[in-house]
Amino acid sequence: MNILEARDVRHHYGDSEILKGITLSIETGETVAVIGPSGAGKSTILRLLDLLESPYSGSISVGGELVNKSNRLSLRRKMSFVHQKPLVFSTSVFDNIAQPLRWRGADKQIIGERVTEALHLVNLDGFESRQAKTLSGGETQRVALARALVTDPEVMFLDEPTANLDPNSTTMVETLVADIIHRRNLTVVMATHDLSQGQRLADRIGVIMKGRLLQIGKSADIFMAP
Ligand code: ADP
Ligand code: ADP
Repeated sequence: MNILEARDVRHHYGDSEILKGITLSIETGETVAVIGPSGAGKSTILRLLDLLESPYSGSISVGGELVNKSNRLSLRRKMSFVHQKPLVFSTSVFDNIAQPLRWRGADKQIIGERVTEALHLVNLDGFESRQAKTLSGGETQRVALARALVTDPEVMFLDEPTANLDPNSTTMVETLVADIIHRRNLTVVMATHDLSQGQRLADRIGVIMKGRLLQIGKSADIFMAP
């Protein structure tokens, strides 16, 4: 089944057309990497698929349901977004991860259990009472991953998840992401300018340039000469 579908999605900022008709389908459980140079429109297509913004024209469906004004917020609850520079609040790691559950009105005991479980998933057992602002870049990105996972989403978006990390932290985050994808039936859509990262993590790679999806397919099919 297709969890996400975009049909002829176009988007403008002012007079410039940023996305020039993107059509793609993403299957449940699949990992897709969107690659392309800076400014190509990778973040924009992720934000539209995450329903953070509405496309200027075209349509998006989630789980076969066409997105509209009235179902947008409830469909967004199936998704989580990890930003390139995750926003971390000046509170404890526990509070940072608990936040999306509190917004959903989850009860205290469930929140406690879910936060502990999410920290375990990202190899940060025992970090609950650490102040989030004192963490290293790699730890911060892992807290952001835990916060994205704590709501048990169906789709996780990762926007350049390792762009600001050193090589060791990059490997750590990639290993965690691969492990999480493997353990849960999670659909992942990631943006990266790093082709080799896309090849390491994704089932399919979409190449975006100047707002157009030039190709999408298995990396061997895209990058091997015919
Ligand atoms: P990428 O993620 O591939 O680097 P983006 O999707 O972030 O590309 O941006 C695509 C283009 O849209 C860029 O030219 C960028 O400057 C422009 N852009 C992105 N967000 C905005 C915005 N909020 N307002 C105006 N222009 C924007
Ligand atoms: P997200 O965008 O992470 O899915 P929501 O859509 O639930 O989160 O909420 C959008 C924004 O509104 C959040 O970033 C948060 O700052 C704020 N917000 C939502 N619900 C609450 C709440 N109950 N208390 C405080 N802030 C909230």
